[in-house]
Amino acid sequence: MSDTIFGKIARGEIEADLIYEDDDVVAFQDISPQAPTHVLVIPRKPIATLNDALPEDAELIGRLVLTAAKIAKQMGIAEDGYRTVINCNAGAGQTVFHLHLHVLGGRPLQWPPG
Ligand code: 5GP
Repeated sequence: MSDTIFGKIARGEIEADLIYEDDDVVAFQDISPQAPTHVLVIPRKPIATLNDALPEDAELIGRLVLTAAKIAKQMGIAEDGYRTVINCNAGAGQTVFHLHLHVLGGRPLQWPPG
């Protein structure tokens, strides 16, 4: 896949407001938050979309989800509730083609989403 802004953030080549990082996962504040808490959790591995995830990525994707839950607790939104979202491809609103999980909370969230 071609490089993206999130690849550059994962490699520390451009700045982001980091919340968490380890050898495989990076989490940072969304630049255009859609809720009082809006964090993006990404793998360092450049996977373009959820469609491109392989069976060997199962543990990594599990870690993205568990990192989201840990961040929700840290940011104090776990009890009230929060939403995790992976937009897959343009029809679902994906604009950055490096797999990422949105963590949204801090306000009531409507269902169904738009
Ligand atoms: P998508 O629409 O692909 O699911 O989500 C992409 C998200 O990345 C959007 O919520 C957008 O605000 C965020 N975003 C785009 N460019 C940047 C950037 O350079 N830095 C950060 N922190 N977030 C970005």
